[in-house]
Amino acid sequence: MSYHITRDFIRLGNSRSGQKLNGVRFIVSHDTGNPGSTAYQNMNYFNKQQPSASAHTFVDDQYILEIIPLNEKAWHVRYNVSKDNQMFGADANDAAIGVEFCFGGSINFQESYNRYVWYHAYLCQTFNLDPHKHIVAHSLLDPSRRSDPQSALNRNGVSWDQFIKDVSNAMSTNGKSSNSLSSNGWRKTDNQWYYYKNGVKQTGWRLDKGKWYFLDSNGVMQTGWLKDGGKWYYLDSDGAMATGWKKVKSKWYYLDSNGVMQTGWLKDDGKWYYLNPDGDMVTGWKKVGEKWYFLNSSGVMQTGWLKDNGEWYYLNPDGDMATGIIQVSGKYYALKDNGEMLENTSIPVGADGALNI
Ligand SMILES: [Zn+2]
Repeated sequence: MSYHITRDFIRLGNSRSGQKLNGVRFIVSHDTGNPGSTAYQNMNYFNKQQPSASAHTFVDDQYILEIIPLNEKAWHVRYNVSKDNQMFGADANDAAIGVEFCFGGSINFQESYNRYVWYHAYLCQTFNLDPHKHIVAHSLLDPSRRSDPQSALNRNGVSWDQFIKDVSNAMSTNGKSSNSLSSNGWRKTDNQWYYYKNGVKQTGWRLDKGKWYFLDSNGVMQTGWLKDGGKWYYLDSDGAMATGWKKVKSKWYYLDSNGVMQTGWLKDDGKWYYLNPDGDMVTGWKKVGEKWYFLNSSGVMQTGWLKDNGEWYYLNPDGDMATGIIQVSGKYYALKDNGEMLENTSIPVGADGALNI
């Protein structure tokens, strides 16, 4: 389930100063206190009358209507109340989004409420907020003067706790990668991703939409290198386990189809590569056992003649560097112990380096 957000901003004036919000630390939930007034009626009122009061968003049974951009301040809580400062270290007008619930009259409560809940969930996901910590009622901040939005919710049988629970549930059924509601247990809290099943945080490996994720013992989705069962895995920034070649901090690694980081010789697409004990792909000369090999700049093991740093070398069909007298295409060549082809030798050498024997 997903709703469209309509953005129809009022002009600058007393209601909309255009001043920038100092980040979004919490949400203040309101109701309009004016039964039957719709989202657009409120928008028109604030646009024309420009009272020194406002809110970012008005929600009714047809619209989720943002009338002030979410990065600007709105005037929805008195500055001289102190609860907002105690709870969040800031005045609500400077650090919170104000959301107004439209109700009563011919407004369908359930339709309006569903949008109101969904929009709070959307804001929590967008600004990494926890509904249990970061959504407050206007009545909590200014109890001597205000009773919203409980006044509107309660008369339709919805308690504040139920509302927060409904927002939380809407978030848990939201798709991880989008803000549209879909059946998926990913939820972001305090900037960490969790995967829920029947309301319980999952741990360990988790397969979701064909990709593997790893949740630690606290349920936190992991990224980057992960050692599990003595094997190394790499989890992309979105948490998905990598397979195949992967470049990490300018080095290449190879994760097999199970995501396990490989070391040593690797044959891929008919070509040989060599991966150090730390998994990073080797380029250039590499001694493996007692033999030397040469991996080009793409990591591919070379065979046959190789010119490196002005010297000729010969790499056998298995890639190991030849030494001594070798025969190639019917000709003989002399190679030093370090593999360099001998050019000054008592044995006559042809123009192509071949020995005349
Ligand atoms: Zn209010």
